[in-house]
Amino acid sequence: MPTTAAFLGHGNPMNTLEHNRFTEAWAGLGAAVGTPRAVLAISAHWYVGATAVTAMAAPRTIHDFSGFPPELFAVEYPAPGSPELAAEVAELVRPVPVGLDADGWGLDHGTWSVLVHVFPEADVPVVQLSIDARRPVEYHVDLGAALAPLVDTGVMVVASGNTVHNLGRIQWGADEQGADWAERFDAATTEQLRTAPADLARLREHPDYPLAVPTPDHFLPLAYVAGIAAARGVTPEVLVGGCTLGSLSMTSYTV
Ligand code: ZN
Repeated sequence: MPTTAAFLGHGNPMNTLEHNRFTEAWAGLGAAVGTPRAVLAISAHWYVGATAVTAMAAPRTIHDFSGFPPELFAVEYPAPGSPELAAEVAELVRPVPVGLDADGWGLDHGTWSVLVHVFPEADVPVVQLSIDARRPVEYHVDLGAALAPLVDTGVMVVASGNTVHNLGRIQWGADEQGADWAERFDAATTEQLRTAPADLARLREHPDYPLAVPTPDHFLPLAYVAGIAAARGVTPEVLVGGCTLGSLSMTSYTV
């Protein structure tokens, strides 16, 4: 079965400009999937009190960070939007209310830092879906399952976050290693996805969850891919794995 959805561990925004084993895996994914009809992107960085989709024809590139070099602020990802896909998403997830965002957001770096590698020509239309910060993991798994039929219509779902993301515990000398607790939680996440993706919320009971997921924003994009896997009865595969800087997991999954 071809890849229909992916969770990509985006890590440092500088990955936009770098070439390493993670960015090479993202590029390989794009080459393997060809040209989808559109991408539905779910980024850790649009974490608000509602479920919404970008609905504009030409979403802007948002540089939603500070303290990075001018080259990163100069990056543009001019993929078209798709008001049609935005409307389809709203219809599919009824009765969940979905806001149609005409000019408030756009594509943030959670989306474009990976898509510059997956689809470097920026020729695939992209719609971003927000993450409702008020809702638990189960809500997001269910929403992912509700969105699963989209992939049969040629849409690729690209979720972007990090399953382990604790900026307060970064170890700058750790390079491509995670602390013991980070490696354990990373492995437990892979095991959960392989055995029972619908029950992703069980990871909240893992003893390392508080350190690995101090806030849910970077973890929740994974719930959408878990929901799609569960709905389609397929097992997520590791695209590329590993922790960096002590407290970040860069592990990515495809469905
Ligand atoms: Zn991030």
